[in-house]
Amino acid sequence: MSGDDDDRNRGEDAPDDDNGSGDSETMDNEDDDRLVSGNNRKDERENIALRPKMLRELIGQDSVREQLKIIIEAAMGRKEPVDHLLFYGPPGLGKTSLAHVIANEMSAKIHITAGPSIERSGDLAAILTHMKAGDVLFIDEIHRLGRAVEEVLYPAMEDFALDIVIGKGPAAKNMRLNLPRFTVVGATTQLALLAGPLRDRFGARFRLDYYDQDAMEQIIARAARMLKIDITAEGMSEIARRSRGTPRVGLRLLRRARDYAQTRAEGVITGEIAGKSLELQGIDYLGLDDIDRRVLKTIIINYEGGPVGLPTIAASISEDSSTIEDVYEPYLMQLGFLKRTPRGRVATARAYDHMGYPFHGNNNGSQNPLF
Ligand code: ADP
Repeated sequence: MSGDDDDRNRGEDAPDDDNGSGDSETMDNEDDDRLVSGNNRKDERENIALRPKMLRELIGQDSVREQLKIIIEAAMGRKEPVDHLLFYGPPGLGKTSLAHVIANEMSAKIHITAGPSIERSGDLAAILTHMKAGDVLFIDEIHRLGRAVEEVLYPAMEDFALDIVIGKGPAAKNMRLNLPRFTVVGATTQLALLAGPLRDRFGARFRLDYYDQDAMEQIIARAARMLKIDITAEGMSEIARRSRGTPRVGLRLLRRARDYAQTRAEGVITGEIAGKSLELQGIDYLGLDDIDRRVLKTIIINYEGGPVGLPTIAASISEDSSTIEDVYEPYLMQLGFLKRTPRGRVATARAYDHMGYPFHGNNNGSQNPLF
């Protein structure tokens, strides 16, 4: 069984790319707290330890789990590696965990990398030549692979071949190296940014959805058990309710509630203690934090409810566009607070209501039944 200590293809940090997120993404999965400001190494280590290792430990995502079970069982029956698989959805929902689960279920070794870390096609070629039969290559943020790198990936995925050019000028020779059969597991927060041919090379694509209250409670309960945290059913329910359906957020809130209970109470996370800890962090009853509220307030107050472009919102609140797009918007849209229109982002009547502002229709007219 492979675990988190397996080989990692460590790479250089990528320079800022066009979406300017400026992520200094390393390839060792230590970005588990990227939804939050401040990076706490201990939290990250705990998150990795809490990762479900096998399919049976996976909570929620029932349909994805069932489909994966079939794919894995069938591949094992044929004694073949699983087909290339793509996971997409907002950060913190379990894409990386699933890649590990697949490798573990297949007793395969996992190599971990990320789109921005593979700068040149040679970087990918180096990774590919290290793949052994059945290995899993996990490519996080796969939408951020450069075009030249993608060109190397296509034949590798389709024909298990690596095309290389030896020499330069008229003497240059093309050579094709055969690669062993391996599995690419891709993850992306932005399916739409993935090139069509790349998308098509995955045998199955899975959209990860936000977890419901019940699944979030189970995830919090499991983590509390593993971390030996004393928490009541009310405490779990309170944290789960404000975790925006995202395991990574839930685990973070659990840890902060643990700190609060330890220093300001008797060490037990009750409903009341969880509530106080969340209040202190500025997280409201829907799980919205300060940045969510600033996004909504900017649209409502500065731009009369919108439509307003994402870069303008980002500049107004000094946040990164891609963070808003990947992390904040999907949840605000899920709550029905925000709409994406061709002319920009629009705050809905519900958002006005939640923020406590009177609603008189948007700039783009009130004819839309949603407003
Ligand atoms: P992503 O790759 O989508 O950003 P991760 O796989 O890193 O998300 O998940 C973040 C954390 O949430 C993991 O460390 C893991 O502990 C926890 N987690 C995610 N999905 C589940 C799940 N289905 N059941 C239990 N814990 C989960």
